[in-house]
Amino acid sequence: MTASLSAALRVMPDPLPDPSPCSGPVCGPDATAPQRLARGLDAVRHGVLLVDPDGRVAHGSAPALALLRRSGLSGAPTVRRLLRLARAGTGLGAWEIVARLRGPLGLDVALDGHRVQVEMHSVPGEGVALVLEDVSARRAAESRAHDLARLDPLTGLPNRLKLREHLDAALARLEHNAEGCAVLLVDLDRFKPVNDTLGHPVGDALLQKVADRLRAMVRAGDTVARIGGDEFVVLQAGVSTPGEAQALARRVVDLVGRTYMIEGQLLSIGASVGVALAPADGQDADRLLKNADLALYRAKLDGRSTFRFFEPAMDARMQARRRLELDMRQALARREFELHYQPQLNLADERLVGCEALIRWRHPERGLVSPLDFIPLAEEIGLIVPIGEWVIRQACRDAAGWPQPLAVAVNVSPAQFKSDRLVETIVSALANTGLPAARLEIEITEGVLLQDNEKTLHTLHRLRDLGVRVSMDDFGTGYSSLSYLRAFPFDKIKIDRSFVADMEAKADGEAIIRAIAGLGRSLGMTTVAEGVETAEQLRRIRAEGCTDVQGYLISKPLASDDLLRLLGAPDAPFSGARA
Ligand code: C2E
Ligand code: MG
Ligand code: MG
Repeated sequence: MTASLSAALRVMPDPLPDPSPCSGPVCGPDATAPQRLARGLDAVRHGVLLVDPDGRVAHGSAPALALLRRSGLSGAPTVRRLLRLARAGTGLGAWEIVARLRGPLGLDVALDGHRVQVEMHSVPGEGVALVLEDVSARRAAESRAHDLARLDPLTGLPNRLKLREHLDAALARLEHNAEGCAVLLVDLDRFKPVNDTLGHPVGDALLQKVADRLRAMVRAGDTVARIGGDEFVVLQAGVSTPGEAQALARRVVDLVGRTYMIEGQLLSIGASVGVALAPADGQDADRLLKNADLALYRAKLDGRSTFRFFEPAMDARMQARRRLELDMRQALARREFELHYQPQLNLADERLVGCEALIRWRHPERGLVSPLDFIPLAEEIGLIVPIGEWVIRQACRDAAGWPQPLAVAVNVSPAQFKSDRLVETIVSALANTGLPAARLEIEITEGVLLQDNEKTLHTLHRLRDLGVRVSMDDFGTGYSSLSYLRAFPFDKIKIDRSFVADMEAKADGEAIIRAIAGLGRSLGMTTVAEGVETAEQLRRIRAEGCTDVQGYLISKPLASDDLLRLLGAPDAPFSGARA
């Protein structure tokens, strides 16, 4: 082996001479050209050792000798001593050491508290030069940077990068022992409002306290990481039954959800948790995190401040949702949306007063899609803003062609109120189509008033000042419908169709309709009963004093052309209303 080692080094005879202090001609007083070269080497910052073709250290530059002394070499450098140092400082065998030296990366040797990087260059005719560099400071800085890059500066917790390493390590251990692990993805509920209203210093302090609580909750082998603004991960090690993860998830929801005291203020937030188990829910980090995220999404849908375990069906649902989202993003450009119109009838004079615009999506494969199946998603991903703008413009365009004074009612989502563009959109739609503002009505639900109330009310007043009318839709289905009636002078209350449907079945159904109709009368608001399907319902509604009705009995929502035909017909089929 030594023979091939020597061949590999091309400069080491067998046996290695020892000791061979630096005794070659370059060290002597009669310097020749190579000797002058060698002296020049002393001036180079890196240490250089020249090993001659006979395997003797022919020259050691001053920095090289100083570095070797610092690193614990006693006596003159010989190949054998150097090799011994290298073996001690790398734990490698002689062969491997030579192989590394010949390789592009060189050799990294830990010597007595120092780290020395060694590279070997062959010097034709002269043997080889070993270039030594003390990289201790650089390595220390690199290691600090390595650590810093893996820590969240705010909480001192591992960040996503380090979590990844821990997770990979835990998953690698899975193969050797029977124990699994659990990934708990924790998302704070109501953190954003705290951050927005009380300021970032308070938000930061809150995050630090959450981190403390999470840290205090886990065992030694577990990892708590912060992977986003208000997103944390607990990697629970050594999990052999889902019950263990469930117990921890429950504690996270409970303890993170308890009140915090920050700068003299009591703050309350919540935690939603999605749990994925390894190996059952995935055996690689990406899949586990993704599945924990799906479970988290479910936990949020189910009302937040709770935990959910991943189930394969969640993935299927999410994929269906993603397909719907992709399709919906293209639907506007492809002109796949259309508006249908449902007439509203005034009961006093039995005349049509207006129509509600109801969106439909004519999907190339799914057929005609109900708004109930895509509006919620459009609201969630913000697509409702451009879709809603299209609805407003199209509804105004269509209504401008209807006989006066027929009005058009357009449903407006909370997200459209948030976007600031609503008033401008309406102003320009009215201007472009010539529809008088008084013939446009917007329908809002409680959801609109639940958010940023002051700004919303300001927007509503601006619309009212334009002459646009405002209706409260689905009245009675929310939590505090009554208080909203006091917040803004609505023109119209639309009684949710669930009350109309209940009228015959439940005793209180009719009482509720009577109460709302009375409320509308005393507040000077029109009351429309929605979802009137039978002549009996119509009779009772009329008796209770509602002013208008809308429902299948009068007409189903109609495509624009069908509505125009109906409006033009000499004897419009409203027999149900007249009955
Ligand atoms: P909504 O505003 O309460 O609209 C009334 C819904 O009741 C419509 O369902 C209508 O077709 C249905 N309906 C009317 N009469 C009857 C009846 O006699 N019986 C029964 N069973 N149902 C009746 P649609 O068109 O499926 O709309 C559902 C919801 O989707 C709407 O509820 C509204 O909240 C939303 N929506 C529809 N179009 C738009 C839109 O352009 N923008 C926004 N943001 N939301 C829309
Ligand atoms: Mg409506
Ligand atoms: Mg409604």
